[in-house]
Amino acid sequence: MAQAVHTLDLNFQNRHDAIAAFLIPYSGGAVLVETGPGSTIEGLKAGLVAHGMTASNVTHVLLSHIHLDHAGAAGWLAQQGAEVYVHPVGAPHMINPEKLIASATRIYQDRMHTLWGDFLAVPEDRLHIPEDGETITIADLEFVAYFTPGHAEHHIAYGLGDLVFSGDVGGVRMPGCDYVRLPLVPPELHLGKWQASLELLLEKGFKRIAPTHFSIYDDAEKHIENGLKAVTSTEKWLEEIMPSEPTNEELGKKFAAWMYEQAKTNGVSEHDLKTYEIANPLHMSATGMARYWKKFRQKNKT
Ligand SMILES: [Zn+2]
Repeated sequence: MAQAVHTLDLNFQNRHDAIAAFLIPYSGGAVLVETGPGSTIEGLKAGLVAHGMTASNVTHVLLSHIHLDHAGAAGWLAQQGAEVYVHPVGAPHMINPEKLIASATRIYQDRMHTLWGDFLAVPEDRLHIPEDGETITIADLEFVAYFTPGHAEHHIAYGLGDLVFSGDVGGVRMPGCDYVRLPLVPPELHLGKWQASLELLLEKGFKRIAPTHFSIYDDAEKHIENGLKAVTSTEKWLEEIMPSEPTNEELGKKFAAWMYEQAKTNGVSEHDLKTYEIANPLHMSATGMARYWKKFRQKNKT
């Protein structure tokens, strides 16, 4: 029998379908994959209550990566007693989040707290660092940690039977849509690594895929292939655009226009498009792509 996995809608910015946490009940309580940000703890509590639980039932938290919308409430859950799993590169920032908070504050400024809430530290003795390919056994549940860089260096996708929790490396997809959009963010964006990570997940033959933005889909293979197509077309688009050396502002505008066109071609409604943008704000993408181009493509022309 397939393991029950519940999608909790954290209602980020009063928007359905933007940020999920996934709840997996088992004999000893529950595992949570992703926590959402500190600003949606009330939404998380409500989601747990809807399944007859409270935060104290959550024994283990598996984080795909340390971005605020995925890991912001991990410290709070650790305070309630949860053990937290994170990539080795992300671990120091969970123990001492000061630098992470400072750099996010530079980006979000006075909107920082409203958007993301508090990011509490995870005590070192509650933090676990899996190896690439390691099986994490929790009672009768077996998760496999796959290191999957591209969106961020510190990214893990977790397999559970035929389901993969794809974090952000599996892209952003709204319920009812086929369209997979890549969250292209600085500072570690690397399209080559992203492609390799998606190829790895494709090779594993998962049937279902659970992107944090948003929900669980039964067509993992097609979803991942759509993600791979997005990687290739973004690379190609950059090859066309970047030689003219656009400013970040020009690049951002061109990219937003291109993304809008893609969404329309894929039949995304205006309402869903707004949710795609809340889950993946495009204003970060220009910086992410410009940095990737300068760091990896201009220097290593192949
Ligand atoms: Zn992210």
